[in-house]
Amino acid sequence: MGAFAGKIGLVMGVANERSIAWAVSRKLLDEGAEIAFTHLPGPSSERRVAELVGPQNPKIVLPCDVQKDADIARVFDEIRETYGRLDFLLHSVAFAPPTELNAPYVETTRAGWHLAMDISVYSLVAACRAAAPLMGDSGAVLTISYFGGEKVVPGYNVMGVCKAALEHSARHLAWDLGRRNIRVNCLSAGPLRTLSSAGISGFDELRRHAAEKSPLGRALEADEVADAALYLLGPNSSGVTGETLHVDCGYSIVGL
Ligand code: NAD
Repeated sequence: MGAFAGKIGLVMGVANERSIAWAVSRKLLDEGAEIAFTHLPGPSSERRVAELVGPQNPKIVLPCDVQKDADIARVFDEIRETYGRLDFLLHSVAFAPPTELNAPYVETTRAGWHLAMDISVYSLVAACRAAAPLMGDSGAVLTISYFGGEKVVPGYNVMGVCKAALEHSARHLAWDLGRRNIRVNCLSAGPLRTLSSAGISGFDELRRHAAEKSPLGRALEADEVADAALYLLGPNSSGVTGETLHVDCGYSIVGL
């Protein structure tokens, strides 16, 4: 029997087969989890996600624009009606307008900053608030961050500031929800080729650099992120909350 047999989870952020959320989902499904999926509204994301998750026959696959409270409420209502509870939540969602991502941080517009923060950070707060009542006496929440929230990674710009806020949001959420035995953690992943990372200028160079300079001297694989995500979402990390775990071939410890 898999480690997640009988566990019910929500995965927010599968866009295609390269999504980190999909790498994690595949392993969760292999371990017996029952998963509800949400995706960005729109016919093309709906079709791509339906093709990916369809063979698993999930009971819930819903569009959810995390900027819309009504969308979020509908997802958790559906989970309550279908399952009556939730054991884990994977939040793997981020966005900044390309014009903002490609501009120096000092040029960030007020509107672009709010949009990036709303989608990439506030959505975790909203999702945790909606998830907590369904989590009963235990639950695990995981969000995905990047080293650009700790140090200046040129080209990451407003998203670096979002990741700093995301990591500290996870700590506050861990504090608020800890007495209900709901754990909230971050996984800081090294660079992986996905739809989102394609929008970061110089991403291929950044991935090459990380591979060369990291202690392990190689590029990170999505499956390695997924393995660590299962640890943080599962019972083996029962004493871990508010933590940011680097899964980056060790890149973040290097000072040269
Ligand atoms: P991805 O593009 O596959 O995933 C991003 C997801 O965010 C997509 O599913 C997209 O539909 C969703 N999204 C964007 N705006 C949304 C909205 N308004 N409502 C609902 N969903 C919305 O790319 P990914 O690389 O798998 O990104 C997942 C997470 O991992 C992000 O938080 C990203 O910042 C983080 N991350 C990625 C890398 C990397 O190198 N790829 C490294 C570290 C952290």
